[in-house]
Amino acid sequence: MQSGARIISLFGIPLYIHSSWFLILALFTIAKGVAWQETYNWGGVIPFVAGFISSVLLFVSVVLHELGHSLTAQTQGIKVNSITLFLFGGVAAIDRESKTPGQAFQVAIAGPAVSFALFVLLSLLVSILPSGSTPAAVLLGNLATINLVLCLFNLIPGLPLDGGQVLKAAIWKATGDRFKAVRWAAQSGVFLGTGAIAFGLFVALTVPGFTGGFWMALIGWFILQNANNYGRVTRLQELLLNTPVSEAMTRQFRVVDGQMTIREFTDRYLLSDLYEGQSQHQPYFAASHGRYRGAIHPDDLRRIERSRWETQTLETIAHPISELVTLRETATVLDAILQLERSQLRELTILTPADAVAGVVDRAGIVQTIAQKAGLAIPKAEVERIKTEARYPDNFPLVAIAKSIPLDS
Ligand SMILES: [Zn+2]
Repeated sequence: MQSGARIISLFGIPLYIHSSWFLILALFTIAKGVAWQETYNWGGVIPFVAGFISSVLLFVSVVLHELGHSLTAQTQGIKVNSITLFLFGGVAAIDRESKTPGQAFQVAIAGPAVSFALFVLLSLLVSILPSGSTPAAVLLGNLATINLVLCLFNLIPGLPLDGGQVLKAAIWKATGDRFKAVRWAAQSGVFLGTGAIAFGLFVALTVPGFTGGFWMALIGWFILQNANNYGRVTRLQELLLNTPVSEAMTRQFRVVDGQMTIREFTDRYLLSDLYEGQSQHQPYFAASHGRYRGAIHPDDLRRIERSRWETQTLETIAHPISELVTLRETATVLDAILQLERSQLRELTILTPADAVAGVVDRAGIVQTIAQKAGLAIPKAEVERIKTEARYPDNFPLVAIAKSIPLDS
C-alpha cells in the first residue's frame, strides 16, 4: 500500500497518497461545485473553490480517522509503518495485530470514534453560526455529514472495514479463538461485498440514469477482494503457528568422519555430490568417536591453503553445534522463519531432545511445506531460486505474515 507519493510525517508516521486519490479530489471538487452552483446563489467560481476546499477537508477527515487507529495502536507498542490515502479512504499499515480482543477493539473503534467526535463538534459549530447559506456554513455542514458517513460506513460489520475488526474482536472475546474470529469476520466481509456488488449492479441496470449503483458495486468489489485477502493471510498465519519445523526440514544431511583430511572430504563427498548437482545445498556434519563435532561449511575451504588440505582434518574446521543457530524439533515453522530472519543465515540446524542433529531447515523447505498445505503450487525453478538467493518469493511474504502474528513474548 505504499505506492504513491509521500507527503509528510505525522507523529513519525509517513503519509502516502495513492495516485487514485487525485482522481477522487478532482471528481469530488467538480461534483460539489456543480451541486452548489445549482443550489446556492454564490456566483462566479466560489462554488468550485468551496468544492475544492471541501475535498481537501474530506482528505483531512480521513487522515484524522486513520490517525485515530494509528495512535491507539502505538499506545499498544505496535509500530505503524505508514498511512496511505487511496480511492475509498485510508489504510494504516501496522506491523502486527493487537494481543488481546480488548486491545483489538480499541484500535478498531478509534477511527470511527474520531469521525463521530468530529461530526458532533462540527454540528455544534454549525448550530452556533448565524443561519443561512453562506459558503462557510454550507462547508461546515457538509464536513459534518462527511464525518458521519465516514463513521457509519466504516462500521459495516465485515472485514476489511472497522466494523469487521469490531466483529472480529467480539468473536475473539467470546470464543477465545483469534483465527476463528478473523475467519468469520472475513466471511462476513465476503457476504456483504458480494451482496453490495449484486444489489449495486441490479440498481444500476434497473434504475436508468442512476450511477450510484455502480459505485456501490465498485465498493462491494473492493470489500470482497480485501475480505478474501484477510482469509488467505489468516490461513497462512495458522499454518505457520501449527506446523512443526520437523515437517519443513530436510533429513538429507550427511554425517562424515571428522578425522579424514580436507582433501579426502573434497574428493569423496564434495566432488561426487557436485557431480550429482547437489553439493551447493547439501548440509554436512562432522562426527568422530560417536560424537558430533559440528557443521562443515564448504565455503570455509577457500580460506585454507591447498598445501594443508592433505594433513588438516575435517573436524578442525567444523563449527561446533553449540555455536550454531539451532531450533528444537518441537519448534514451529513460525519460529524458524523468525530465527532465520534474526540470524540472516541460509539455514538452521534442528536438534533432537538429545542434542543430536535431526535435520536442517531453509527458506525453500519452509515455502514448499507451507505452500503445499495451503494448496498453492510453487514451480520447481522458483524453489531453486529461493535456495540460491535465500529470499522468499514476493507473492509469498512469509516474514511479514510471521511478524504480524501477535505473540506473548
Ligand atoms: Zn477506520
